[in-house]
Amino acid sequence: MTAGARDDARWMAAAVALADGARGLTTPNPNVGCLVVRDGAVIARGATAAGGRPHAEAIALASAGDAAAGATVYVTLEPCAHVSDRGPACATLLRDAAPARVVVALADPDPRTAGRGIALLRDAGIAVDVGIAADDARRAMAPWLMRLEHGRPFVTLKLAMSLDGCIALADGSSRWITGTRARMHGHLERARHDAILVGRGTLDADAPRLDVRIEGLENRSPHRLVLTSGAAPDRWQALASPEVIADLAGIESILVEGGAGAASAFLAADLVDRLLIYRAPILIGDGLRALGAIGLADLASAHRRWVCVDHRELGSDTLDVYERARSEGCTASSGKVGTGFPPG
Ligand code: ZN
Repeated sequence: MTAGARDDARWMAAAVALADGARGLTTPNPNVGCLVVRDGAVIARGATAAGGRPHAEAIALASAGDAAAGATVYVTLEPCAHVSDRGPACATLLRDAAPARVVVALADPDPRTAGRGIALLRDAGIAVDVGIAADDARRAMAPWLMRLEHGRPFVTLKLAMSLDGCIALADGSSRWITGTRARMHGHLERARHDAILVGRGTLDADAPRLDVRIEGLENRSPHRLVLTSGAAPDRWQALASPEVIADLAGIESILVEGGAGAASAFLAADLVDRLLIYRAPILIGDGLRALGAIGLADLASAHRRWVCVDHRELGSDTLDVYERARSEGCTASSGKVGTGFPPG
């Protein structure tokens, strides 16, 4: 790798981190990160604002002012080319700011832009490079991409369990299987999703606890879904089956929190895109298993479905993050995006 390519990778990783920090805040717009770099130093940065506007590039360029002229701009998604009544197109803003070069991680699959943002910049004589850290950018924007490309929310399944795969004692008691850091991480993940989903049994047992309890993030408690054929209580929305998630307006990411029935139903429907496995160093033995039947035909079909993309220690517990290996999109790469806390 040349020094220039190393610099590009480093700056784009920082832009992806900005994008990742806005995850769960920008629906229905993509969570984008943008850096303006000049003479080897960051002079401005931006991430898509809560609610989706202003866009990352608009924030970064406003902060850079005239210093953006001749600089290099790193952005995780192709700048938008469509004018909205909520603001000008970022490709136009960039062209007017006249950076020497724009580095883009991912071309925009949105048909309203789809290459036109890049073309507009190149036509203005600005050098544009596309594809730097594309897998990491794709991972940071996975919910938005899932809605755009597959018409449904991105689903993460969280399992907090013992070394031997139990989520509760035989009597159902499940509090404090994992320690404080793992539980705080779980709360952070709640804050980064548009909705959480539980099965009816978990709702009845744990309803008061299903919110975000991190100082400063209490108001990030997501929309609440319950998988049930019956009616939902106040402030909860009932889903009759996993398949109906596609109909949820304004929801791009769902965190499935259990119990075993809801987790198994989503896995059986092949509607889990990401697994968060929190594991405590304890053995339970005769407890409640994390999963029931998931419709597995044979052992061969269980293999090559999940790729580990992150592993870290949270106090005495561990977190392993897996992604569903599908033919396109979220396949294996070395990214370390989207798990919240820094390592160790
Ligand atoms: Zn834009």
